[in-house]
Amino acid sequence: MIRYALHCEHGHAFESWFKNSAAYDKQAKRNLVTCPICGSAKVEKAIMAPRLSRAEAVEPASVPAALLPPPPPPAPAPAAPPAKQPVAIMSPHERELRKKLKELREVITRNADYVGARFPEQARKIHYGEAEQRSIYGEASPDEAKELHEEGIEFHPLPILPDEFN
Ligand SMILES: [Zn+2]
Repeated sequence: MIRYALHCEHGHAFESWFKNSAAYDKQAKRNLVTCPICGSAKVEKAIMAPRLSRAEAVEPASVPAALLPPPPPPAPAPAAPPAKQPVAIMSPHERELRKKLKELREVITRNADYVGARFPEQARKIHYGEAEQRSIYGEASPDEAKELHEEGIEFHPLPILPDEFN
């Protein structure tokens, strides 16, 4: 097959394929080659040489490109430093611990009487049998706590929740 650039008597340019140049000559002579725009059978081959040579010069250049090995994959980017994790004020572990402390504290306080600053006094009374056995909670200074401990009075500091420091 051969492709001819053609133009008719009115200057319409078009292209058409022919089996070979002889086929074109034969069809053109029989007015079988017509302009698709105006239908004129008076068509001529356009001067193809310059275009062909240019096409030949360009087209082969594009072929080797397809035969080139594919470009190497881009080098892996240098390992990015791990993204900084937002640091929670309280880790999940701390949240869990805090939850347990809160539960423990709730259990203790629910079943105990709050005696406030009278805790050392009340603790002694209970310890020495001057008051009925019951659970109490309240406050004791470090010195008072030490004295109670030395007297063999068993007590435990209440869990303090972090937000109570505020
Ligand atoms: Zn035409």
